[in-house]
Amino acid sequence: MTPTVSCDEHEWDEGVVTIPPTLNSKGEMLLACANCGATKTVEITVEPITSIRIATADGIPAAVITTVSPNSTVQFGLILNNGASGEGVTWSVSNTALATVSQNGLVTVKSGPGTTMLTAADPVSGKSSTIALRIV
Ligand SMILES: [Zn+2]
Repeated sequence: MTPTVSCDEHEWDEGVVTIPPTLNSKGEMLLACANCGATKTVEITVEPITSIRIATADGIPAAVITTVSPNSTVQFGLILNNGASGEGVTWSVSNTALATVSQNGLVTVKSGPGTTMLTAADPVSGKSSTIALRIV
């Protein structure tokens, strides 16, 4: 945008997010001056992932051994040090005969009984969290 009036000191607005930050990458925000219409781009930074923890859907750290019912679905979440949503984290189970997991942490438990490991891993930082799911 071409400035239409001279401007001694820009008054930047709140800005619009043009590139949302992700788990491990910076985003960008476009600010505009309320006086002259000049624009500038600023970086949106997030702290790198240094810790990741599987949590319940309510955001409480999940027990190291979590008991689940056969033939049920259980939603898990994540607690990340930087408050990121967890998008991009890879979910997996060690024994898909006992349970499967979607890439947003929804576990589908099969008939059991048995125990399988549930892991959430950030492929960028290499940080991960594992709990045992005990089907009884
Ligand atoms: Zn200005």
